[in-house]
Amino acid sequence: MNGLVLFGSPGSGKGTQAKLLEQCLRIPHVSTGDMLRAKGAAAGSVVVATMEAGALVSDEVVNQMVEDRLSREDAARGFILDGYPRTRAQAEHLCCWFDQRGIRELVIHLSVDYNVIIARLTGRRQCPVCGSLYNIVSQPPRVDELCDRDGQRLVVRDDDRESVIRERLDAYERQTRPVLDYLNAAGRRVYSVDASQGSPEEVFQKIRQALETHDRKENVG
Ligand code: AMP
Repeated sequence: MNGLVLFGSPGSGKGTQAKLLEQCLRIPHVSTGDMLRAKGAAAGSVVVATMEAGALVSDEVVNQMVEDRLSREDAARGFILDGYPRTRAQAEHLCCWFDQRGIRELVIHLSVDYNVIIARLTGRRQCPVCGSLYNIVSQPPRVDELCDRDGQRLVVRDDDRESVIRERLDAYERQTRPVLDYLNAAGRRVYSVDASQGSPEEVFQKIRQALETHDRKENVG
């Protein structure tokens, strides 16, 4: 069972790596950001306003949403979590959920330099239909501003505007970075991967190496 957790600040490449891992491992990509955006107005006006401000949605809402998603049949063989846990309360909730089910997690921490993050986030574009991610500098579409997969015009997500980016990075520093300390102190399996440099494929190879090392240890232990 693969309980993979992709951990990193906004713009660290979690979404891109999760999609590559999903293709490779054939287990579902569970992104709390995508799920909350898809719920949209149905998630309630407080949730929408919180996301638009770049702040974090309440732990209760997100924990329940993730639990429901991971309980579905397609996640029985494994899953890739992207954007969760983001607070200590979420991390405690998830670890407890893993332990109750005997799931051995692997947390991949994508570590990226702050200036690289800013450049990536301001250049980010997304397909409003299929969710594919691009970057006008580092990963442009084949045709300017159009999605490679379905030709839709790419958009800047509401939460990628500059003031919101600052708020999201602030929320990361205050609430999410301490989660890493918590996971390490709790003896969870955490691998750090340098994701500042190299193409998404090169970073992906580093993640694969981490997975192979992890699998070898599992088989020995
Ligand atoms: P993301 O696409 O992962 O960057 O998430 C976009 C926004 O969704 C965040 O800025 C938060 O407002 C909200 N969000 C996503 N995941 C979580 C989470 N685990 N806890 C709280 N809020 C979240």
